[in-house]
Amino acid sequence: MSEAQKTATFLFHGELNDFLPKSRRGCPIQCQFRGRQTVKHLIESLGVPHPEVGRLKLGDQDLSLNALVENGDFIEVIPPELPLPLPSSDNDALDEPIRFVLDNHLGRLAAYLRLFGFDALYRNDIQDEELAHTACAEKRVLLTRDHRLLMRTCIQQGYWLRSKIPRQQLVEVLRRWNLADFARPFRRCLRCNGLLQEVSKEQILAQLQPLTRLYYDEFRQCGICGQIYWKGSHYERMQIWMTTVLQASTITP
Ligand SMILES: [Zn+2]
Repeated sequence: MSEAQKTATFLFHGELNDFLPKSRRGCPIQCQFRGRQTVKHLIESLGVPHPEVGRLKLGDQDLSLNALVENGDFIEVIPPELPLPLPSSDNDALDEPIRFVLDNHLGRLAAYLRLFGFDALYRNDIQDEELAHTACAEKRVLLTRDHRLLMRTCIQQGYWLRSKIPRQQLVEVLRRWNLADFARPFRRCLRCNGLLQEVSKEQILAQLQPLTRLYYDEFRQCGICGQIYWKGSHYERMQIWMTTVLQASTITP
C-alpha cells in the first residue's frame, strides 16, 4: 500500500529567495511529499541549500534541519543574521580567522582572498567529490556558484556567491563574516596560497630583473612555490583598490 500524500508549506525569508524562481519569491510554497522526510530534504528539494539557512521555525518552535516534517506543517526558513560568527577551528595554532576552499571556477576570487591574507584553497582541476571532502575534513568554508554542491550532507559551512563578478564576490565574502579587521595584506602567495616569508635581497638577487634589482630592497618569498613579491609600482594603486573593497564590505548599522 502506498503511503498517504502529505503537504507542508514553507515560507522563505530574505536572501533565501535568491534560490527560488521569481514567481515563488516571498510567497508560501506548498510542498507535497510521502513518508518520513526531514526539513533539510524538503527545503533542498525546493532549491535552498542547507548551509544558507539560519533558523527554522514551526510557529514559536525552533526546528533543526533533521526534524521530520508533519502533514500540515507551516515552516518558516530564515537566513542567518550578518555578520556570521567566525567558524571555530580545531587548531587555533593555525592562526587563521577563517579558512576557505573554492570551487574550480573561482580562481580570481581565490587570488583576491589571498591578497588580503586569507587562507583560500583552490585548484582548477579539483573535482566536486574532493572539494566536499576537503571542506569537511579541514573544516573549511566552501565557496561556490553551484548550489547543488552546497546541498551535500557533509557540508557544514558554505556560501553560494550571488555575483558572477570576482570583485563583488570578494565584497560578499568579506561582508558575510565581517572580515575587514582580519585582512593582512601581502601575507600569502597569490599563486599557491603559501605563506610569504621575508627574504634578503642577496638571497634572491640572481632571480631579479635588472630594474627590480635596482629600485627595490624589500622582498618576500613564497615558502611553497618560491614566487618572489615586492611592493612595486602597482603597490599604491592596489592599496587604494583594497581600501575601497574593505569599505564596501563593511556593514553599516
Ligand atoms: Zn606560492
